[in-house]
Amino acid sequence: MAPIVQKYGGTSVGSIERLQAVAQRVANTAKNGQPVVVVVSAMGKTTDSLVQMAGEISSNPCRREMDMLLSTGEQVSIALLSMALQERGVPAISMTGAQVGIVTEAAHSRARILQIQTDRLERHLNAGKVVVVAGFQGIALGEELEITTLGRGGSDTSAVALAAALNADRCEIYTDVPGILTTDPRLVPDAQLMDEITCDEMLELASLGAKVLHPRAVEIARNYGVTLVVRSSWTDDPGTRVIAPERTPRKLEGLELVHPVDAVEFDADQAKVALLRVCDRPGIAATLFGEIGRQSVDVDLIVQSIHEGNTNDIAFTVTKNILDRAESVAAAIVPALSPQSENNQTDVIVDRDIAKVSIVGAGMIGRPGVAAEMFSTLGKAGVNIQMISTSEVKVSCVIDASDGDRAIAALCETFDVHISTVREREIADADAVKPPVVRGVAIDRGQARLAILQVPDLAGRAARIFQFLAEHGISIDTIIQSQRCRILNNIPTRDIAFTIAQTDAEVARELLTPLLEEMGCGELVVDESISKVSIVGSGMIGQPGVAAKMFAALAKENINIQTIATSEIKISCVVPEDDGVKALQAVHAAFGLSKG
Ligand code: ASP
Ligand code: MG
Repeated sequence: MAPIVQKYGGTSVGSIERLQAVAQRVANTAKNGQPVVVVVSAMGKTTDSLVQMAGEISSNPCRREMDMLLSTGEQVSIALLSMALQERGVPAISMTGAQVGIVTEAAHSRARILQIQTDRLERHLNAGKVVVVAGFQGIALGEELEITTLGRGGSDTSAVALAAALNADRCEIYTDVPGILTTDPRLVPDAQLMDEITCDEMLELASLGAKVLHPRAVEIARNYGVTLVVRSSWTDDPGTRVIAPERTPRKLEGLELVHPVDAVEFDADQAKVALLRVCDRPGIAATLFGEIGRQSVDVDLIVQSIHEGNTNDIAFTVTKNILDRAESVAAAIVPALSPQSENNQTDVIVDRDIAKVSIVGAGMIGRPGVAAEMFSTLGKAGVNIQMISTSEVKVSCVIDASDGDRAIAALCETFDVHISTVREREIADADAVKPPVVRGVAIDRGQARLAILQVPDLAGRAARIFQFLAEHGISIDTIIQSQRCRILNNIPTRDIAFTIAQTDAEVARELLTPLLEEMGCGELVVDESISKVSIVGSGMIGQPGVAAKMFAALAKENINIQTIATSEIKISCVVPEDDGVKALQAVHAAFGLSKG
């Protein structure tokens, strides 16, 4: 029988009493004869107190010693849990990460798993023992054997990696919440529990889901086809199933390091409609996409970059066969969107000769530099980027159709992957029951938006900026490139806006200022008072009117949308910080996600 992996978080083993309850649950599972591997976190807030103790000794403790220290927390819980199992007559043995053979890279405090040796584990399982493994830790092999940790919250990742290595039946993550909710219940009290969600959706909702499930765990589940369940340790309720694509045989070597990008997608059947200089006020995007949705025009990418004066540019792509319809809808609605001044008329520009090229991969989360690598690959191949739109697990660029072959060849080589079709579309088609249009709604309040005005529109410029930030360890979230092209000293320029963690904003400003000057860019505008609100759902693919509904919900609350970025299964809007929670609540309700 295939084993089952159960992981219990800190709160679930927060006291002796709770630990006993966990032991009882494990004993019940083991009773049926299924081999059980249990992964546990440190008890309660142990890790936090260890961090605090270190802080009292050193303001900058050495990472190696920190790993030595923090890995002790889990060692306490595995030993106690094994004893509790043994007391119940269940044969059990505890093992540290090193004893199991959870081999990681040598990066202290944020190591990625390279491989899991399963022979010792399997020997104990075959002998009928429950194996209790310390989460969050591993060992780096080399001249020295070094204890490593995977980064805070990392025991989810240990559990899913073990499940992948053991070909487990499933991996259950036991926690102190009932599962994954449609949004943050502290902000929207009527958030509902989801029965299921796909790995791709979960990754796009990283900012919502990260507190419940480590994104790296979802990445492994997706790559290795591990069925994941998130459920409460206090009840027998089924919780939320995180659905992974079909399990495909995949080497365990380089487990977490293989490919940050696992596909290059290409879509030549796209055309672009850009509206230049529409009014910058609430309701404009809603009016435009409302009309487009009513005419059953399905839009793919939508990009609205930062405003210039009192106007915005909004661009979207559609499949070529509906371009004419999209264009006429846009042209008809323009008078309602246009600023009422003579010299500031809205223009509609249509481009049939474009293609969309994207890189996709869960591995780009938390790895700065992947997007930059895409831009620099395109830059070196002499491919100019017309539109950029990014989400957690995807970067899409609209380019000239005639550059398509060169772009694909270069990207496949850089990322060492094959070109593929749209994964989400396959999943959506394979599902007999259509997945919900919107699965969940997330808000991110910890971001700042930087906008670089008048970046020379030449191949390789975006690459240079993002490469530079990556080299300094600054992770970029959403990137949006403007449509409006301004000619300055005979050079066409565009604005590039992106969001990063608020805590990085000041450093980024300081770092960028001299570089931008050297590159001949315009001003750098930083806005820290923003919120990003996103809807995610694989059911929105091929479904007209979804964006319109989101924008209309915001318009009804009189919330001005500052920027828009989309992927196939996600639409994100940046709004003023003070409107963030109201926006979240409005959008959550608009898609019928609220209880009752
Ligand atoms: N104990 C570690 C932490 O608190 C790992 C975990 O709980 O997942 O971050
Ligand atoms: Mg956790």
